[in-house]
Amino acid sequence: MTHRECGDCTVCCSVMAVTELRKASRRSCEHVGPEGCRIHPERPASCREFHCLWLRGAVAGDEALRPDALGVMFDYFVTRGTGEEHLIAFELWPGALDEPAARSLLEELARTHELRLSYRDGRWSSLASEPAP
Ligand code: SF4
Ligand code: SF4
Repeated sequence: MTHRECGDCTVCCSVMAVTELRKASRRSCEHVGPEGCRIHPERPASCREFHCLWLRGAVAGDEALRPDALGVMFDYFVTRGTGEEHLIAFELWPGALDEPAARSLLEELARTHELRLSYRDGRWSSLASEPAP
């Protein structure tokens, strides 16, 4: 199994909603600082349980593809009822989703999953998975 660590990355602290803190998505957490989470030992369960796809090893690549380096963080969600898994790509700075490394990952993931793209400027779009030949 791929062993990965967050290291200096704190991207999810600025992207994900944290219900316990009433923090909305795409808002930086009040507890994040240059050294990471300032309340790390007491951080909410949502934070403890969150692992982006890179950290899970579900996205190929080394630390050059870690969200803070790539500019894109991948997460997934499951549609209630159908159990279908969708992936979501959060762009961290304008243009990051158009960079070659990100495009190549998007193309790879879109072979098997529907991908939703969340752009830094608030736009959304989708990449449908390709039907089997
Ligand atoms: S975005 Fe992923 S790698 Fe970065 S801190 Fe969050 S879980 Fe760790
Ligand atoms: S509480 Fe800590 S781990 Fe959770 S979002 Fe805020 S800074 Fe990140």
